[in-house]
Amino acid sequence: MTLDVEKTIKWMDDFNAEIQAQKGYLSELDTPIGDGDHGNNMARGMEAVHEALDGKEFNSVSDVLKTIAMSLISKVGGAAGPLYGTAFLEMSKTNSGDIKDLIPAGLAGIERRGNATEGEKTMVDVWKPAAEAVSAGKLTSKLIDESVEKTRDMQATKGRASYVGERSIGHIDPGSMSSGYLLKTLLKVGE
Ligand code: ADP
Ligand code: MG
Ligand code: MG
Repeated sequence: MTLDVEKTIKWMDDFNAEIQAQKGYLSELDTPIGDGDHGNNMARGMEAVHEALDGKEFNSVSDVLKTIAMSLISKVGGAAGPLYGTAFLEMSKTNSGDIKDLIPAGLAGIERRGNATEGEKTMVDVWKPAAEAVSAGKLTSKLIDESVEKTRDMQATKGRASYVGERSIGHIDPGSMSSGYLLKTLLKVGE
């Protein structure tokens, strides 16, 4: 599936709507293992993205992705803003709209910025299997949901959730949940 400017903006509209709808739930997920702000952080960031994209003209998918990156980096405090911001910046640098290029590039940005590997109960646990599946032409919403669910049994060894040690086991990782929304809305604009 290949994005054009219109589809990229549609993707962000849909993701923004999902984030605003799930804001309370995302912050709830962040409460037992973090500081309870993930939904609010993402909602603020996506509001800024909406303002930056609304009514503007863009020449390329890359331009749209770069604008998204800048909004997220400047408006979202905490871990998630720079991580998502770097993901969009790396996606923008591919100069491609093909999700086979975009998702692996986003993952590379997150890995570079946060230094986490698979199994550390971070958004990498959703991006990594998604990048592998998209390269094989096999990315589905089901695989994304399963990857999010798998973070429940992991113990966090990166980010704020690592502070609670073993008590992080038994809770879904909030950044993995929001990443699941992002990747599922991406698949949906291609339908
Ligand atoms: P903060 O933890 O600063 O309050 P958020 O609550 O907005 O920031 O985001 C937390 C999410 O960020 C986690 O659920 C996790 O998915 C992600 N995260 C934290 N640290 C890392 C990291 N080093 N690499 C990848 N993702 C991370
Ligand atoms: Mg938090
Ligand atoms: Mg915080």
